Amino acid sequence: MSLNDRQFIRYSRHLLMHDIGEEGQEKLLNAHVLIVGMGGLGCPVSLYLAAAGIGQLSICDGDTVDASNLQRQVLYKTEDCGQLKVKCAKAALGALNPEVQIMAYPEMISARVLAKDYSIIVDCTDNLAARHVLNEHCQQQGIGFVSASAIGWEGQLIGFDFAHNNRLCLNCIIDRDSAEPIMNCANAGVVGPVLGAMGSLQATMVMRMLLGFFGQHGEMQRYDGKAGRWLNLRGQAKDGCCVCGGSE
Ligand SMILES: [Zn+2]
Repeated sequence: MSLNDRQFIRYSRHLLMHDIGEEGQEKLLNAHVLIVGMGGLGCPVSLYLAAAGIGQLSICDGDTVDASNLQRQVLYKTEDCGQLKVKCAKAALGALNPEVQIMAYPEMISARVLAKDYSIIVDCTDNLAARHVLNEHCQQQGIGFVSASAIGWEGQLIGFDFAHNNRLCLNCIIDRDSAEPIMNCANAGVVGPVLGAMGSLQATMVMRMLLGFFGQHGEMQRYDGKAGRWLNLRGQAKDGCCVCGGSE
């Protein structure tokens, strides 16, 4: 496959970069990325990945747009209230880049959604149980897993490049039997641009993994938006982890 004239114009700012170029753009065009959850994280992730020319984007979410979403879920308009998020998102992303094939599922993680072959799965959910299901699926399939969350002024993100490293997974860092956090966006609030920052970084991680230079397997990045500070924490494989087997 080589790029056509339209693609040369659309992706010209990638093509100028020596570490993306035509070869890298083709990798992006050949990728299939699943975004789970189309809320405050899923909106920026999907916008940037559609704009970047990821060939196939699958999006899933069972919710409809609510007026209280509009403070942070930047894909949706006031007139979208009451409509399925994936329906509105598919229309908006298709208008941004008609070349991207978008599959929209009006449900959360299901066997039907997980049955497809993905290059990377991006976790934009707001619950720990879903994160662990996706972590285990990606580890078993040997595909990339990029996860983020935010609450209040704080966000965190972590990526696992299981295609190149199958030891050290989310369960090594946060045990899947640990209790669901009591605080979430619905009861504690969240600042929209903090979600935007985390979502943009998830999209950046996806591009780095697809281009073959992701070097932060299992490294947690935390952002305190109120103090304006970052913290990076290197993860460690847990001996006998029931998902990845841990360090050996
Ligand atoms: Zn593990």
